[in-house]
Amino acid sequence: MEEECIFCRIIAGKIPADIVYQDDSVIALRDITPQAPTHILIIAKEHLASLIELGPEHRDLTAHFIYVANEIAGKEGIAEGGYRVAVNCGRDGGQVVPHLHFHLLGGRRLSGALG
Ligand code: AMP
Ligand code: ZN
Repeated sequence: MEEECIFCRIIAGKIPADIVYQDDSVIALRDITPQAPTHILIIAKEHLASLIELGPEHRDLTAHFIYVANEIAGKEGIAEGGYRVAVNCGRDGGQVVPHLHFHLLGGRRLSGALG
């Protein structure tokens, strides 16, 4: 755990969060500033700074993010209407929190714009 990292602190239970799912490798919680009716962050429990740190040794974790996103989309009732899974990587990718996380967004018609 990184003491200064907000997501590590949430994972350690030091900061409260609205957790919707967790297992050995990921935790999912509602974004504090939701951009859509459903906006959930799926966060790696291991502190990896960004998407670019995912290598072949993270094959299972990488796939797991997608399975968890699909599972939560079903539980949130947004699977039928459709949803978006997005990852911001690095400064130009718009990443603000340097701890790997996937965004799951849905519940409204999202704009086609990606940036
Ligand atoms: P990103 O720009 O991809 O790094 O996204 C970081 C996301 O984390 C933003 O959507 C923030 O609203 C969200 N966020 C930051 N702090 C918290 C927190 N304490 N609980 C839930 N979401 C948070
Ligand atoms: Zn962290």
